[in-house]
Amino acid sequence: MRDPRYDILFEPVKIGPVTAKNRFFQVPHCNGMGHGMPESHAAMREVKAEGGWAVVSTEECEIHPSGDVSPYVEARLWDDHDIPALKLMCDKVHAHGGLAAVELTHNGPTASNLFSREVLIAPSHQPSKYGYPAQARGMDMEDIRNYRRWHREAAIRGKKAGFDIIYVYAAHDLSLAMHFLQKRRNHRTDEYGGSLENRARLLKEVLIDTKEAVGDTCGVALRFAVDELIGAGGITVEEAKDVVAMVAEIPDLWDVNLAAWYNDSIPSRFAPEGAQEPFINWVKSLTTKPVVGVGRFTSPDTMVSQIRRGVIDMIGAARPSIADPFLPKKIEDGRVEDIRECIGCNICVSGDMTITPIRCTQNPSMGEEWRKGWHPDRIRKAESDARILVVGAGPAGLEATRALGSRGYEVHLAEATRVLGGRVDREAKLPGLAEWGRVRDWRVGQIDKLTNVSVYRESPLAADDILEFGASHVVVATGSRWRADAFGRSAHAPVISEGTPNVLTPDDIMDGAALKGHVVIYDDDYFYMASVMAEVAAKAGCSVTLVTSDDTVASWSSNTLDYRHIMKRLHKVGVKMLPSLSLTGWDGAKAAFEHSWSGAEEVVSGDIIIPVTMRLPNDGLYLDLKARAADWADAGIASVKVIGDAEAPGLIAHAVYAGHRYAQELDGPDRGEVKFRRHLHTAVTP
Ligand code: ADP
Ligand code: SF4
Repeated sequence: MRDPRYDILFEPVKIGPVTAKNRFFQVPHCNGMGHGMPESHAAMREVKAEGGWAVVSTEECEIHPSGDVSPYVEARLWDDHDIPALKLMCDKVHAHGGLAAVELTHNGPTASNLFSREVLIAPSHQPSKYGYPAQARGMDMEDIRNYRRWHREAAIRGKKAGFDIIYVYAAHDLSLAMHFLQKRRNHRTDEYGGSLENRARLLKEVLIDTKEAVGDTCGVALRFAVDELIGAGGITVEEAKDVVAMVAEIPDLWDVNLAAWYNDSIPSRFAPEGAQEPFINWVKSLTTKPVVGVGRFTSPDTMVSQIRRGVIDMIGAARPSIADPFLPKKIEDGRVEDIRECIGCNICVSGDMTITPIRCTQNPSMGEEWRKGWHPDRIRKAESDARILVVGAGPAGLEATRALGSRGYEVHLAEATRVLGGRVDREAKLPGLAEWGRVRDWRVGQIDKLTNVSVYRESPLAADDILEFGASHVVVATGSRWRADAFGRSAHAPVISEGTPNVLTPDDIMDGAALKGHVVIYDDDYFYMASVMAEVAAKAGCSVTLVTSDDTVASWSSNTLDYRHIMKRLHKVGVKMLPSLSLTGWDGAKAAFEHSWSGAEEVVSGDIIIPVTMRLPNDGLYLDLKARAADWADAGIASVKVIGDAEAPGLIAHAVYAGHRYAQELDGPDRGEVKFRRHLHTAVTP
């Protein structure tokens, strides 16, 4: 039974000619599958509808080959051949009573046309943003007429595919309707340039075109960026207010957010839940149409508050719907404590960036609904009465325990320390990373409810203990530790010999080691940890130099939209950054580096060095057990497996996935070498 305080979340909302059954709106989000993997895409959207989202949207949907965003794989409605792939999604969303929405776009100068090889088009001549370093040509009146026609035709195709809501997209600095609004991209002197009214003309026309084309049966939504946060060079809130006033009642729904994507999907390290409220809270005062907003909402109280205070009408969500496709249903069923809350790590974004199926730290089934048959809220029952011992309660061990326990196995989880969570518990104490603790909290909460699971804290196990325990299967999830010798990508051999003074690893810092004076951080890892160490040191009052073997700090973090925020933060706290330098030595007071390109030696003095290079698996226990394989049968052990960081250190997402996969595959069918369904689109065009 749901809490009556949340009743308001389940009120229907009229969106033009269609009605959403509640206020939960899965806004468009990329997923790395798009038109390339339609079955996977449809199955992923289906679980959202099944989980109670009243509206389930596609990602960006290209309307024409001249707006091709390759190599990114988004949705596509170039012509009628693209309809069946999206019909698949619509049918699945409808089967659960949801409305399907499609976000039509022509990305103009922010397309790439890498695939189509068409010449890019833009409001005015300008450099391309993606693809080759070529230029987009300024559109003439014929181009504008064509663009409007392509958009109309794509809207009709969307309606044919079964979509209930057709989006006009003017957000994220990614679509022509927005580019015409931007003074920096639109230097026209005709009726489409100059005054704001002129710059907004195309947006207004496309909205009216779309209404005329499909508005009889489809709701028409406008996704609109209210601020680019770059000052006068971009769309500012002042201009945005005028635009909203100009077209206020034309769309059937306003979906408003910040641009660019890194501001919209800002990582939790840099902004809390509901952070967009002050930027969008005026929109409702200018329109009577329903307003959708996002803010990584996972708390039903925050959602209710935003609705009651008139900030938004519908709870927009991409990430919270990825981390828990069943979020609405859990609120409806009075299972709020079961919500698997998004941690704001943006590993989901990396699927789009790397053009591979979406993955999620919290939800290991994300992207695997079709190809592995994994479901975010159900798992098949145990197929034996096996008794399983899991060693180590980090994300890998916790997820294995939870999922095996949910299947009904008798599970025993042994953890060396008093606390559960492993690296997540430790990293969540670092600046900005508190929400990562949700990986631990959700799993511990679920495990607590399982009567078939026993948890033993302060129980460091050795091989003898395990052989005595009498488990049918043993899962070793003992984690990893950061190397102190600075070996990593850029070194051919360990750089710092054991016993050299004033060396601290990230583990030492997380254990509370004191910092002093000038701290040198050496980043050969390229993700978040070195920048977090720099923040810790700066907060401790130290002067900090962050040296990296790469040509820029934290380069991989662009895949999670962290990069710009990390750079700004490091500049703000006064961290000095030195790129393109590989560590060659540390004598306790001086670090020597070799420059990647000049080969010159550089020396940086410091009181402490923190090498952030790579981790070593804690695989001693696993190797001991392997060495005693001859004793397993007598101990009743059928298998011993090492998972997560203890096998090969990686992301928290890798550890969760490894734990989940172990639980899914136990007693499962042998699927041979390829352990998942493939997209076999074997039809050959005649
Ligand atoms: P992962 O990311 O793979 O889950 P973590 O490093 O987060 O790995 O977690 C590993 C956990 O295993 C830590 O909490 C650690 O205390 C625990 N652990 C390590 N060795 C043992 C052991 N021999 N017995 C029990 N627990 C262990
Ligand atoms: Fe949230 Fe991280 Fe999952 Fe993305 S990957 S939905 S940010 S938990």
